[in-house]
Amino acid sequence: MPLMLYNTLTRKKEPFRPLDPANVRLYVCGPTVYDFAHIGNARPVIVFDVLFRLLRHLAKKGEWDGGKGETKVTYVRNITDVDDKINARAKEEGVSIGDLTERTTKQFHHDIAALGVLRPTVEPRATDNIPQMIELITTLLRRGHAYEAGGEVLFEVTSMADYGALSNRNLDEQQAGARVAVEPHKRNPGDFVLWKLSTPDEPGWDSPWGRGRPGWHIECSAMSKRYLGEVFDIHCGGLDLIFPHHENEIAQSRCAHGTGVMANVWMHNGFLQVEGQKMSKSLGNFVTINDLLNTDKFGGKKWDGEVLKLAMLQTHYRQPIDWTVKSLEQAAQKLGRWKRIAVPMKTDGALPDQLSPRPLFPLIQNALEDDLNTPKAIAQIDSLINNASREPVVEVSDALRFFGLLRDPYSQTMELTKLEKKLIAQRGAARTNKNWDESDRLRDELAALGVVLKDNKDGTTTWEVQR
Ligand code: AMP
Ligand code: ZN
Repeated sequence: MPLMLYNTLTRKKEPFRPLDPANVRLYVCGPTVYDFAHIGNARPVIVFDVLFRLLRHLAKKGEWDGGKGETKVTYVRNITDVDDKINARAKEEGVSIGDLTERTTKQFHHDIAALGVLRPTVEPRATDNIPQMIELITTLLRRGHAYEAGGEVLFEVTSMADYGALSNRNLDEQQAGARVAVEPHKRNPGDFVLWKLSTPDEPGWDSPWGRGRPGWHIECSAMSKRYLGEVFDIHCGGLDLIFPHHENEIAQSRCAHGTGVMANVWMHNGFLQVEGQKMSKSLGNFVTINDLLNTDKFGGKKWDGEVLKLAMLQTHYRQPIDWTVKSLEQAAQKLGRWKRIAVPMKTDGALPDQLSPRPLFPLIQNALEDDLNTPKAIAQIDSLINNASREPVVEVSDALRFFGLLRDPYSQTMELTKLEKKLIAQRGAARTNKNWDESDRLRDELAALGVVLKDNKDGTTTWEVQR
């Protein structure tokens, strides 16, 4: 069976084929870093990690390159570190914006490490991509899709014939609904900010329109273009991002590049609520990942990140989840059972030799290929255990490793490939020759391969492999 994915854009499940059989390209909107991540934020991290794992698994099997198994999967998940919510929080706390975003980004990484998810290939920060945003906005102005007014550069929604296709709303509906506050400087109420001027105490970057900062939507258009190209395969995020965020990303990217789509497939996870209620600070039912892992506020004990992950995967990613302590208890029980039955790992964490090359067993693969049907995959594991004539059950170990509920099977190799070594050498030469454009180009190429370079003050360059 080919991989079938539900596409919000067409409202259908469709067979998936990458645009480039050598490289499957995936973008997930990442967190805005000003506070602890809550368990709702953990949902896209968890479900799109399963997608990343499945794509890697199929790539290794040669699904898209005639059996060669050389297809790469490039997964980009950004960090939104420029946003008015961040500015407000930094002011409230009396700390610098840089300190706040640094601290919360670290905390985010720390929290999700407990969930056993793979690192994205590239994790760009918005603040490292301001020139790319300025370039996109310049193109939109030149092509007649944007205008300057009232200290802002705005995207003009009426300049795009099919604006609203993702969220299925046309402009008349949007305007009649008057969901968007009427602001006199806007040509249409739905026009949205690409750039806005900053006061001296707000963060800002020099631009052709004065010192200012980007709007939220342009950040993702710029970062996805930089690391994945003008058109790529899959774009993901939570349901709440369909409108306006994703709609506006599409408008910007398509109008700047003159393309028919931004990404071929748009996937959205459903929302999570807590014990039957919307999670909100005012209701006092806000569950952060950190609290769940490190306090006994929920059911009187600390919980393992893997348990949270399994509890979430019991629900299909497009369905809403009502998260309860009871669901954690059930997941903990199940995971405990699975782990007792799975083949034990050697003490060094390595897996028994005979396991490493074996594919994920077909029933689980089939379930996941059906639009990431994780509840079905979980049921398959249970029925396999119930019907197994022997213990330990090696397929359970395979499945656990696949989901990152044991140590990872494809434990991401930290070794550089020949090509990567060559590119690093070429970049070193470009720097020596002060050929900065070439050097930047090679750095980006390496980043897209998961090799992040760091130029040190002493003139040396080191790298970190993130795959
Ligand atoms: P934010 O940091 O608010 O931009 O959110 C980061 C990601 O978490 C986005 O993909 C949101 O759609 C997602 N998200 C936020 N709240 C929830 C929730 N309650 N349930 C599921 N996903 C959520
Ligand atoms: Zn985004």
